[in-house]
Amino acid sequence: MSNDQTVVTIWLLLTVGIIGTIVGSFLNVVIARVPEKRSIVRPRSRCIQCDSEISSGDNIPIVSWILLRGRCRHCSARISIQYPVIEALTGIMWIVITGWALVTAPEDSLVNPLLPLLITVASALIALFAIDVRWYKLPNEIVYFLYPTTIVGLLIALALGGDWSEFPNLAVSALGGAALWVGVIGGLWLATRGRAMGLGDVKLAPILGVILGWGSLSSAAIGLLAAFVLGAGVGLFLIITGRAGARAKIAFGPYLILGFFFGLIFGSSVWDSYLGIIGLSR
Ligand SMILES: [Zn+2]
Repeated sequence: MSNDQTVVTIWLLLTVGIIGTIVGSFLNVVIARVPEKRSIVRPRSRCIQCDSEISSGDNIPIVSWILLRGRCRHCSARISIQYPVIEALTGIMWIVITGWALVTAPEDSLVNPLLPLLITVASALIALFAIDVRWYKLPNEIVYFLYPTTIVGLLIALALGGDWSEFPNLAVSALGGAALWVGVIGGLWLATRGRAMGLGDVKLAPILGVILGWGSLSSAAIGLLAAFVLGAGVGLFLIITGRAGARAKIAFGPYLILGFFFGLIFGSSVWDSYLGIIGLSR
């Protein structure tokens, strides 16, 4: 990469990161309102303590929270650190995914054609993660939005990639990933009568499985495995340290989401080293 290209890339990633924090600010509204079935469009955000409207000037992602030192301008009530954290996390996520899309771009294109889909899905997953931790549910409003989004996003990726002869292989692998995720999560939901997982997890599973499967079936398998390893690890830690009883209610959605990202980023390399260990390297 030449110097000029490096400078352009850095500016591009910074711009993407700033847009990400603005989207993160919108995700904060989604996280606060969707579980209570309130509109995400209106009214404008208000202080939960003194009910004064938050002006645009006090609504700049991350910056406003720092300038106001985490307090309402009018009544000094504390504003949760969750707001700047979600904004920063979304900005970082946008930068990481765009960076990944640049690095994994096919020979004749600038970015990986999965970029629009991944950036949309990742943003929705941040909201689902935060909502599940607090409310133990994955709202249908968000999960159902992901179904058409994913189908359209995969078709856009295929159209941008330009190789329709690949479609049958990709479709089989993607559907295999979806079947694997929904089979395992749905099977556990049935077997435990909804105690180990919620129905929201079952509805989210095929989305995560289909996207990972589109990359490779092994990524889908590794992602699912990572979700269970993480879930079991954290669950055991909470029980051993006495922070949760063996029958405590634990949201599983966050582990599915973390497993998805693990599979997306590390899936194929973990699979390759596994094949290497058992002596079947390609
Ligand atoms: Zn206030």
